[in-house]
Amino acid sequence: MTKEYDVVIIGGGTGGYVAAIRASQLGLRAAVIEKGKLGGTCLHAGCIPSKALLRSAEVYAQTIDGDKYGVVAPIIRLDFSKVQARKEEITDRLYKGVQHLMKKGKIDVFDGKGSITQTKDVLVELNNGEGEVILSPKNIVIATGSRPRTLPGLEVDGKYVMTSDEALKMETLPNSIIIVGGGVIGIEWASMLSDFGIQVTVIEYADRILPTEDKDISKEVQRLMKKKGVKIVTGAKVLPETLEKGEGVSIKAEHKGKETPFSADKLLVSVGRSPNTEGIGLEKTAVELNPIFIKTNDFYQTNEPNIYAIGDVIGGLQLAHVASHEGIIAIEHMAGQNPKSLDSTLVPRCVYCSPEVASVGLTEEEAKEKGYQVKNGKFSFRAIGKALVFGESDGFVKLVVEEGTNKLLGAHMVGPHVTDMITEAGLACLLNATAMDIAHTIHPHPTLTEAIGEAALAVDGKEIHA
Ligand SMILES: Cc1cc2nc3c(=O)[nH]c(=O)nc-3n(C[C@H](O)[C@H](O)[C@H](O)COP(=O)(O)OP(=O)(O)OC[C@H]3O[C@@H](n4cnc5c(N)ncnc54)[C@H](O)[C@@H]3O)c2cc1C
Repeated sequence: MTKEYDVVIIGGGTGGYVAAIRASQLGLRAAVIEKGKLGGTCLHAGCIPSKALLRSAEVYAQTIDGDKYGVVAPIIRLDFSKVQARKEEITDRLYKGVQHLMKKGKIDVFDGKGSITQTKDVLVELNNGEGEVILSPKNIVIATGSRPRTLPGLEVDGKYVMTSDEALKMETLPNSIIIVGGGVIGIEWASMLSDFGIQVTVIEYADRILPTEDKDISKEVQRLMKKKGVKIVTGAKVLPETLEKGEGVSIKAEHKGKETPFSADKLLVSVGRSPNTEGIGLEKTAVELNPIFIKTNDFYQTNEPNIYAIGDVIGGLQLAHVASHEGIIAIEHMAGQNPKSLDSTLVPRCVYCSPEVASVGLTEEEAKEKGYQVKNGKFSFRAIGKALVFGESDGFVKLVVEEGTNKLLGAHMVGPHVTDMITEAGLACLLNATAMDIAHTIHPHPTLTEAIGEAALAVDGKEIHA
C-alpha cells in the first residue's frame, strides 16, 4: 500500500527533522525517513558529542590550573570512561527530545533507507527487515547529509587511522596524535586533545590554520594553540604513501621542499566532508550535481521543482544552523509562503576550541576583494574585567567596517565564550548597523561583550580602556 504525503524528507538530521517540524506547523502532512538515528551527524557524531568532550577537556585543564584561582586539588585524575558516559547521556537526552518533537508534530518517522523511484515516489527499505514501503509525496526534501572525507592511502583502519566518527568513540586516549587538516574540526580536536594532556601535531596544507577565517584570527589561534603545546606545521602536504604502522603511526609530509617525518600513536584525518548522494535514486531524476554536491536554486529546489535538497548534501557552509534554516526556507517555499532566501554572509561561523573563535560577515581580505575601502576596530580581552575574572584574557574582537559609511561588514573574535557573543554582530550586520550603532548599544559591565563595544569605538580611535 502506498502512503500519501505533502512532503517526504529523506534524512532526519538537523536539516531534515527541522524541515519536518516546520512542515507540520504549516499543516503539511510530513514523513521523515532516517536510516540511522534522528538527529543525524550533529547530534550523534558532530556538534553535540564533540562539544561535550571539549567541555570535559576544558574542565580538566582548568582543574589542573586551579592553583591560579586559589583552588588547590592534590590529586587530579581523568576518568575518560566517565567523560564518554557524560557525552552519551547528553546526546541521549537530546535524541529523546527530537523523537518527542516528531510525535508532537504528528510526523511519521520511517526507520530505514529512502530512495527516489522512477515515478518520483520514495521507496523505504525498512531497518527491521520487514521489507519495503512506498511513500507517495507531492514534494521530496533530500537531507542526507555528509560523511568524513579521507585521503586515498589514509583510510580508516579501526586502530591507527581515524576520522572524527571513530575519534568520538575512543575508549582510551592515546599519548600522541597527528591531525591531518587544520580546519574547524581539526583545530577543535587539537585543542581538546591538548587540554586532555595529549601531544598533538597538526599538519595543514594551506599556509595557515583556519584558512577561511580572517588572517588576524588564524594568526592568533595559531599562537594560542602553540602556547598550549600543540605543534602546528602549515604549508605541508601529507604524503599518504609514506604511512607506516607498527608501534604507532609514522608519516612524511612535504614541507619547505623537504620530506619531513612525523610519528605518533594515532592519526586523525580531518580534511572535509563528502555529500551522501549515492544510493538515493538521483540517477532516476533530473537532479544535477555541482560538481559533487546537489545543485539547487536559492529556495533549495533542484532541477526537479518538487525535489528540494538542503544541508550538508548541497555543500556551502556545512553547519547545523545552516541546514536547519535551509530546511525551513525549503518547506515555506513549497507551501507558497514566499520566504526570504538565506544570505550566507549573515551566517555565524564558530570554532569551539579553547579559547573559542566566532565570526560573521566578510573578513578584511574578502571585503577588500569586493572593492570596499575598509577600516578596523580591534580590542583585546586583556583590558576586559570579566575576562580577567574568568582567567581567560587571550584574544580580541575585530570589527571590519566600511570607510565613509562606517557600516559593519564583518566581525571576527577569538577569546572566551565568543561563540555566545557573535549573535550581536550578526544582528548588527542584518540591520546594516554602523560601528557607532554598536558603540551606542549599552554593554553591561562586567561582561565579555564590552569588548565588542570597545572594538566599535576603536574603529575611530575612541576606545575607552586602551
Ligand atoms: C565532528 C563534527 C563537529 C561538528 N560541529 C558542529 C558545530 O559545532 N556546529 C555546527 O553548526 N555544525 C557542526 N558540524 C556540522 C554539522 O554536524 C552538520 O552541518 C549538520 O549535521 C548537517 O545536517 P544535515 O541535516 O544536512 O545532515 P546530517 O546531520 O548528516 O543528517 C543526515 C541524515 O540523513 C541520514 N541518511 C543519509 N542517507 C539516507 C537515506 N538514504 N535514507 C535515510 N536516511 C539517510 C543519515 O543517517 C543522517 O542521519 C560538525 C560536524 C562534525 C563531523
